[in-house]
Amino acid sequence: MENFEVRKPHAVLIPAPGQGHINPLLKLAKLLHLKGFHITFVNTEYNHKRLLKSRGSNSFDGFTDFCFETIPDGLTPLEGDGDVTQHVPSLCLSIRKNFLKPYCELLSRLNESANIGLIPHVTCLVSDCLMSFTIQAAKEFALPNVLFFPSSACSLLNVLYFRSFVEKGLTPLKDESYLTNGYLETKVDWIPGLKNFRLKDIFDFIRTTNPNDIMLEFFIDIADRVPRDSTIILNTFNELESDVINVLLSMFPSLYPIGPLSSLLNQTPSNHQLASLDSNLWKENTKCLEWLEPKEPGSVVYVNFGSITVMSEEKLLEFAWGLANSKKPFLWIIRPDLVIGGSVVLSSEFLNEISDRGLIASWCPQEKVLNHPSIGGFLTHCGWNSTTESICAGVPMLCWPFFGDQPPNSRFICNEWEIGIEIDTNVKRDEVEKLVNELMVGEKGKKMRQKAMELKKKALESTSPGGCSYMNLDKVIKEVLLKQN
Ligand code: UDP
Repeated sequence: MENFEVRKPHAVLIPAPGQGHINPLLKLAKLLHLKGFHITFVNTEYNHKRLLKSRGSNSFDGFTDFCFETIPDGLTPLEGDGDVTQHVPSLCLSIRKNFLKPYCELLSRLNESANIGLIPHVTCLVSDCLMSFTIQAAKEFALPNVLFFPSSACSLLNVLYFRSFVEKGLTPLKDESYLTNGYLETKVDWIPGLKNFRLKDIFDFIRTTNPNDIMLEFFIDIADRVPRDSTIILNTFNELESDVINVLLSMFPSLYPIGPLSSLLNQTPSNHQLASLDSNLWKENTKCLEWLEPKEPGSVVYVNFGSITVMSEEKLLEFAWGLANSKKPFLWIIRPDLVIGGSVVLSSEFLNEISDRGLIASWCPQEKVLNHPSIGGFLTHCGWNSTTESICAGVPMLCWPFFGDQPPNSRFICNEWEIGIEIDTNVKRDEVEKLVNELMVGEKGKKMRQKAMELKKKALESTSPGGCSYMNLDKVIKEVLLKQN
């Protein structure tokens, strides 16, 4: 006898194997689950183990109609303490070479289980754009595949135009001196939708001297592979990036901004079981929230450079002393691997200096922290999740973009939306001290806070019933994901 549940739509979601990719796709998975989908969420074996470890549990079993599966990442572990999965070019090479086969095998296994009535048949795929091998898998299995781009619309536009930088001879650079001789100030005026962009505001992958740069090739390959009739969803909202979204729509008519996903999920009635499902690769320190509790409203600077950014010890010390000298209370998340080539050692002189006003932890519940009333500003690397989470909390930013999509995100934060100030790549303590004060108590900081609050309101509207992002998700579900049902 056919079980009713077995006829549920079944979506298989696969993020790229990084924290900034897993987080938003898991949010989307939860939203689809709340709309009646059976979910299979696919992580790499390595990340799956880390997710379990940070939860302090042996499995993700027990979630009804929400299953986790794994595929290998094809990487050889490094000798010693190094984590090869933190090396983005190695990961990207492996995604291109090694992921398609185990992914197709997994889809076949899922369908075998469905044939004997254990789960519903796979009816659709939702895949991170970086996992472009899924385009071929979707063809082989005759399934709709919605592509999820986890960064800004502006970043997607950057990627689609990468080839033009090569064709114009702007990349690869002739030699390293081009990084410092003013060349990066060159105007980028041929990409519609990007106003006042310079080479330094484009993904840093174009700042290479290598004609076979792995990252540049990886993204050009993605831009070439994605068919123009693909359905693409973005974790942004119309009111935030309308010009760029319009340009993208002229290239991909089936493109839907459905973000910010954190806001969309927060406004969707959920259940306790689903709410407890998180996606931290590092173990959270919840003491941060207790520490924030007695602080004055809007008084604390929150500092976090995300999951991949690394810096020299010298730069870490410039940030450290800049924060200390600003005399403002701060919560600084320092991942154990934040400093290149070694563990983080902060002097007792520094720790004594900040003992009454600084807290350092290795990972925190970022969204809860940003939404805590004590937080007044965010010193960030401008990862797209951090950016949208800050907007959803109405918190202005100090920006220190490091790599990938962070330079274009920072340009939009500072120039288009005017909710941030950029710190020089070659960071100095005096500048940090000055800008922290400007952000927290200066006139510019006040204006940025106001604008951030206005954007927060718009994000909320877009993800409320009837709002653009809210309606777009419904449309994608009805017109694409449920098409076969
Ligand atoms: N994050 C977190 N706790 C931390 C640091 C980061 O929960 O201490 C989360 C953050 O909320 C965001 C993600 O990790 O969702 C980082 O993604 P982002 O795009 O900002 O940067 P990436 O790590 O990809 O550079």
